[in-house]
This record gives sequence, structure tokens and C-alpha cells, in this order.
Amino acid sequence: GSNLPEVRSTCAYCGVGCGVLLRPDRAGGLTVRGDPDHPANFGRLCSKGTALGETVGLEHRLLTPRAFARDVGWDEALQLVADRFRETIAAHGPDSVAFYVSGQLLTEDYYVANKLMKGFIGSANIDTNSRLCMASTVAGHKRAFGTDTVPGTYEDLDQADLVVLVGSNLAWCHPVLYQRVLAARQARGTRIVVIDPRRTASCDQADLHLALNPGSDVALFNRLLARIHQGGHVQPDFLTRTEGFSDALHAARRDDPIPTGLTEAEIDAFCDLWIKTRRVVTVFSQGVNQSSCGTDKVNAILNCHLATGRIGHPGMGPFSVTGQPNAMGGREVGGLANALACHLDIEDPDHRTAVQQFWQAPKMPERAGLKAVDMFRAVETGRIKALWIIHTNPAATMPDADRVRRAIARCPFVVVSDITRQTDTARLAHVLLPATGWAEKDGIVTNSDRTISRQRAVLPPPGQARPDWQILSEVGRRMGFGPAFRYRSEAQIFREHARLSALAAALGKDFDISGLSNLSDDDYASLTPTRWPVNGPGADGRLFGDGRFFHADGKARFVPVTHRGPAARPTRDYPFVLNTGRIRDQWHTMTRSGLSPRLSGHLAEPFLDLHPDDALRLGVQVADLAQVTSPVGRGLFRVRITDTVRPGQVFAPMHWTAETAPASRVDALVPGPTDPVSGQPESKAAPVAVRRM
Ligand code: SF4
Repeated sequence: GSNLPEVRSTCAYCGVGCGVLLRPDRAGGLTVRGDPDHPANFGRLCSKGTALGETVGLEHRLLTPRAFARDVGWDEALQLVADRFRETIAAHGPDSVAFYVSGQLLTEDYYVANKLMKGFIGSANIDTNSRLCMASTVAGHKRAFGTDTVPGTYEDLDQADLVVLVGSNLAWCHPVLYQRVLAARQARGTRIVVIDPRRTASCDQADLHLALNPGSDVALFNRLLARIHQGGHVQPDFLTRTEGFSDALHAARRDDPIPTGLTEAEIDAFCDLWIKTRRVVTVFSQGVNQSSCGTDKVNAILNCHLATGRIGHPGMGPFSVTGQPNAMGGREVGGLANALACHLDIEDPDHRTAVQQFWQAPKMPERAGLKAVDMFRAVETGRIKALWIIHTNPAATMPDADRVRRAIARCPFVVVSDITRQTDTARLAHVLLPATGWAEKDGIVTNSDRTISRQRAVLPPPGQARPDWQILSEVGRRMGFGPAFRYRSEAQIFREHARLSALAAALGKDFDISGLSNLSDDDYASLTPTRWPVNGPGADGRLFGDGRFFHADGKARFVPVTHRGPAARPTRDYPFVLNTGRIRDQWHTMTRSGLSPRLSGHLAEPFLDLHPDDALRLGVQVADLAQVTSPVGRGLFRVRITDTVRPGQVFAPMHWTAETAPASRVDALVPGPTDPVSGQPESKAAPVAVRRM
């Protein structure tokens, strides 16, 4: 036992953003329990959150800066980074450098990275692994609402009578939200529908599972929109607050004959349930986003909620659940290549001018920068000559991962900031910068329902590790941008971000936390979970209930969308469709969750799920090794034979890397064509061949 007090913080993993109570022991360890007062989880935790204390050991940690394979001091490392970036920009212009960052960054780190690249280097070449996660939702929200707003709150899940999970295995990927849905089911009989080609753990309690063809979500929601109209369920009131309904309906009707793989009876059952239940929340996640038509899928869902006015009121609305702990914070600071800070638009001259003046920045890019896939293509062709990768592992996790790895290996100057030194990407770095990690650093994260929570440091920084905002600010100062990067604390950065949000609100944007602009350092230290907007509308936490949206005319937009399906279809040579995803107890490339024996015990090695009919045809037995081949790569997987996948479809988890299972890396198999609007790669529908080894 220890007498050290418990400290409130937020879980390191998913976008649910559960509150945790941390009690450090005197030996560098931690015990963790759910925070009973946090509005995301009220004390609940999933297996990953519960095991957080097992993951704070220092094995595999990067503890000193390194440059060209030797340990160096901070001074030398930072000067080297600043000099090489400055020289590269002087010789080749600001667009010859790039940052690739992560939803693991805290808001303050993210803010400083975005400010340095967009305001001072003068390029928009900063993108984030959220591009692989949420970009289609961002784009869909902006098309429909005029801004990237999640309208609802987690309370809507408690108050819904129907929860539809689209492309979301909520039971494994956002377990605490799933527990809230099950509690609502107990309390009020909430129905659950799962729309997913796979029968996942989320189907165990579902009233209906629609195993639709991969990529046919638009056709299904178009059928729903047509039925809503046909049955006279369009809310006329709401139509006056929107534009474009008849075009969207026209497009929806065109999709009527599109096969979805579902029977008419299944479609009827779904449409009837959806239409007759007013309190319906449609939760969507990576099955929607990670698609070459992801943005259209998002808008197909939003169209149905707008047509029925089921948005912004208790127990109803479209609900995007985010992957990473601070995916939302990254969107708020403008950490995507096509965004500006505080949900402002990079291509709007008024927005640019406002931000430039606020930052007193020398220059601002006028166009969007390179989105993740294009960024690594530009690294490959030599256009990007200096690259700084922060808390993410693109050599393992980008689609066409081997090509990305080769591109990074050829880049003249690569900096990696991370907590671990042995990731696939860290091995390619010229300079490695040791950063503090969860429980060692202070800052803010925003969860999927816009709740801002504190992560708090309870452990000392290990070795020479520093917070990312300090590392970035120091490089900014050494590049000659002194005054703008003289930050002394996280609180100071957060106040600046909050002040900038007042400007965004004045320009008509939703992201307003100006009520937090004057937090004292003590207030910041003790900040309790706070949902934005903090000021202005949304007093009950929801937006759009008043029918006011963020397009210039205050109205929402229906977006006409029609079925396109996955970019690549199965062929004779590649007859299977490969779906990818998470497993319950691992996170990303396991650099943290892999440290917990308990978590690693759940599913210890990479596998491939194969339908029994296909197994029979291929002569594959349980536990055989199968070789999976795609046009871009190949891998070996242990076969599980299961009818959770449909014939012709296979599933493999995404967590293993060259470090942990060199022959079984899923992202080396995924070619990853991208959505034309969002730039998000298609990670769940790659044609592959499977054969027994
Ligand atoms: Fe952490 Fe997400 Fe689990 Fe909550 S649901 S404990 S945030 S991993």
C-alpha cells in the first residue's frame, strides 16, 4: 500500500475518454480505477483501461535523444533538427518539409505543432494518423453542417430507444459506450441493430444484424431515406432549416436496385424499426470511415437524421465514435492538412487573416497541405525532404506499408519523437527524440462527445524525456520564431487556444471554448470534465436542436449520394475481400498494450478468419498457416475457421508489425485507395488471394 493521493486523469486509449483515478506507488508503478465522477464512464473501465497500470514500465522506452545512431544531448539534437529544417526550407521552400502527427498527442502539443507548421514554416504539410481514422466523418460533417460538429452527447445513448451500430464493433472498440447501451437496454428496452459484414461481439445482444456487402452502406441508407419519404415521415419543419432534400431523395431513389447482400425482409425490418422509433442514435465508426466512399457513407446517414429532424434532441442523432484518445482535440486545433485552427477553413481568406494576425505569423499557406497518403507519396518522390513523425508508426500502419517504409528510408532527414525506440518507424529515423508518455505528461484531450478532460502527470519523466510541446517550441525558437514559441506551461498554450476559439466563434464557427480563456494555472490544474461549446449555444450539451447550423445561411445541407462500393472488386486472381480491424485487448501497434501480459493473453498472435465453406474449398484446417497475397504484399496468418465472416470475406487484425510478427503485417497487404473528398484510405475492403501453406 501507499499513501500517495489518487489523481484524476483520462485513459490513454480510445475516444470514449474514460476518467481514471491513478495512485502512484513509490516504486514507479500505478494502480488504476475508473473515476466514478467522470461523465464518460461513471467509474466503468474496459480491459484496456483496467490494465493501464501494467503498461508504465520503462522497458523499450526511448530515454535519451539520439542522432545518427548515437546518444546525444538535447541541445545537439534540437539544433540539428532546427538547422536541417531551416536549411531544407531555404533551399527548397516550405512545402519540402512535413510533420506527420497523431491522435495520441495532447491538445497543447497538437496546437504547437500546427502553429509551427502552418503559421511559421508557412506550409500546410501537417497531417495526422486521424486521417486513417476520422477524416471521412470530418468531411461529411462539414458538408452537411458547415462545420465538423458531433451534435450529440453520450447521454443520448442512455436515452435512445434504438441504437444502430454501423461499421462499429462497439463492444470491443468502445467497450464502455457499449456497456452504456446495454444498461439502456436493461433500463428501457433499447433495441440494437448492427450493420456490419462481420458478425462481431457487438451482435451478441443485437435484435438485428445486417451483414451487408462490404461498402454498400450508402445504398442501404438511401433505401431508408426513400422509405422515410414514401411513408410521409419527413419532418416538414426541419426541411425549412435545410437545403437539398429533393436532390438527395432523387439520388437515393436511383440506388433502389443496388444489391446490398440483404434480403428485402431484412431491409424492411431495419427501415420499419428506424422509422417508427423516434429516439434513434446511429453510431458509426471505422467501417464507415475507412472506405473509398467514406464521406458519402457519412452523409447517407446524416441525410436520414436530417430528414426526420432526429438530431440535437435527447436520445437521437448521428454519432461518430472516434478512435484515439485525442482524435477530437486534433480536429479542434486544426491538425489535419486541410484544416486551420479552431475549425476554421484554410482556404477562406478571412479565416486565414484572422489566425495569422492572432499568431502574428509571418506567412500562412493558402491551400490545403498533403494528406497522409499523398504526403508519403511525396516523401517517395523526393518532394518532401525533411519529415518529423510524432507518436505514430506509419511504416507499419499506413496502407501499402512496405512502400511507405521504403519511402521513409529514402527521405534525406527523418525525425521521430516517441516514447519507444524500437518501432518500425523509429528504426528509420536519423534523429530520435524521447517524449514523455501517458501518466508522465499534462494536458487536455477531447473525447467523442466533445468533453474536454485533463490528462495528468503522476510519474516523473523517465530519463531525459520531455513533453512534445516543449520539444516543438524549442525547435520553433531555434528556427528563429522565438516570441511565438516562448511557452512556459501547458496552461498558457491552452489559454491561447481558447482565446483563438473566440475569434473562430466570431467568424461563425462552432468550436468555442472562449469561456476557458482566463483559466488560472490553478484552474487549469484542477479543471473538471467540460463539454464544449463553453459559451454560447449548446447549454444542454447538444447542438442543432434549435435548427441552427453553420453554413453561411444557417441551414444544413442534404448531400445527394449514390452507391459506389469499394474501389477494387475481387477478381479471379484475388477472389477474397480482406477486412481489417481491432481486437478487444490491443491498441494500435501494441507499443503500450503489448506490455500487459493480461491483455496479450486474449488473442496472442495474428490470425485470419475464414468461412468454413472457403476453408473446405481451399483444403485449410483450423490452425493451418495461410498465405494471403494482394497486389501490394503478402503475409502469413494462422487460420481460424468461423462463420462470423461470410463466404468470400476474410478478416485479420491490424496490431502486428515488423517488430512483433514480421510475416503477418496487415497493412502491407492493403493497397489503400482513398476517398476523393476526405483522403481517407480504404482499409477494410482489399481484394486478396488466400492459399494454404
Ligand atoms: Fe480506455 Fe476506451 Fe476502455 Fe474507456 S473504453 S477504459 S477510454 S480504452
